[in-house]
Amino acid sequence: MTTRPAPYVRCAVCGETWPRLSPRVECPCGGLLEVVQDPRHSARTLRARFDRRRSGDPSVEGSGVWRFRELLLPGRGPVVTHPEGNTTLYRRDTVARWVGLEDLALKHEGENPTGSFKDRGMTVAVTQAVRAGATAVACASTGNTSASLAAYAAQAGRPALVFVPAGKVAAGKLAQALAYGARTLLVRGDFDTCLRLVRETAETLGVALLNSINPWRLEGQKTIVWEMLQQRGWDPPDWIVVPAGALGNTSAFGKALREAKQLGLIRRVPRVASIQARGANPFYRSFRTGFRKRFRVQAETVATAIRIGDPASHDRAVRTIRETRGLVEAVSDAQILEAKAVVDGSGIGCEPASAAAVAGTRQLVRKGLIKKGHSVVAVLTGNLLKDPDAVMGFHARKGRWRNPPVEIEPRLSDVERVLKRRR
Ligand SMILES: *Cc1c(COP(=O)(O)O)cnc(C)c1O
Ligand SMILES: [Zn+2]
Repeated sequence: MTTRPAPYVRCAVCGETWPRLSPRVECPCGGLLEVVQDPRHSARTLRARFDRRRSGDPSVEGSGVWRFRELLLPGRGPVVTHPEGNTTLYRRDTVARWVGLEDLALKHEGENPTGSFKDRGMTVAVTQAVRAGATAVACASTGNTSASLAAYAAQAGRPALVFVPAGKVAAGKLAQALAYGARTLLVRGDFDTCLRLVRETAETLGVALLNSINPWRLEGQKTIVWEMLQQRGWDPPDWIVVPAGALGNTSAFGKALREAKQLGLIRRVPRVASIQARGANPFYRSFRTGFRKRFRVQAETVATAIRIGDPASHDRAVRTIRETRGLVEAVSDAQILEAKAVVDGSGIGCEPASAAAVAGTRQLVRKGLIKKGHSVVAVLTGNLLKDPDAVMGFHARKGRWRNPPVEIEPRLSDVERVLKRRR
């Protein structure tokens, strides 16, 4: 038995432990690390504190992540926060009707400072890295992680190195990484190749690795679930639906729910449904074998944020699906783009990967796996503006939702002609 003060880091495979400010993000045995929190907190005291801080200043106290700090990374030292979180839980009838549910809410993580939920994990992981003495930070990314890392590294005054697949990153995300000043490497290969390369780099050049294998990223991402529960007065929905790529979020959601249940913050654990793109579906395939097999695929999908063929957090995500009696579903790119058009058309908007959660919810309702009377929270993971090319391309093609721009001469007659015409 270990006597380390919580939180500390433990290997999920061999059980070896390290203190919380260890720079280690992987076990020598190859196992994934996890953060072990103190199970002895009082739920009453925690709830009162979290609720009081929610109405506080938009500083560390007001951050939708650091509000929960005694269950993340407590202790002295700098906190690198923008702040983040405090995202809206939307209700839109048009989306609910399209999905086939009465009680659907959309938690819009695209409202975070750099436009995706990645900020929630990054604020904790960069804070931990800085406290642990990191002089430089690095990640491989499908785009949003690099945008987020670049921003938090800039704030912390640490150089950032990001590895992205050449030609496969949405314009908004690449622009952010450059603008925030990260050294940006366009790697001729896919995300999985980038991840291998950054792992080697971190090992040999001694820069801190901030991919979602880093267990502190997951600690921050737990707050998506806790903040949502808090917004609902700690009354859990029946389902939480989330898009799934590297499976960091799926893993973090399971941990958030496990800890909330153990501490007594909630009485009942909602079920988690992870949604993959059909062209990037290794976790879905594994689920179909009862998780007896693990798959690796050559990933291809319009939803570039989940274009991942070999998800790093597979093992911990399996635990989430098992413990919450969850599901894994896969949807086509056509379904993703239609769901996106519905979310966009409601005035909220999201990037393609986020729309996978909405498309997946609809499919699970149609299959009768989510019942019409169930309450569902779907997580919109990223902002509409991340991927303008996906929007322009979609509206240039034929289809029911098509809304292309129309070029005209500066004449009233042209305006009239356009107004009379159907789309
Ligand atoms: C990173 C990301 C995902 C995938 O999350 P994982 O934790 O890798 O499964 C989905 N949507 C968006 C917008 C993302 O940035
Ligand atoms: Zn180990």
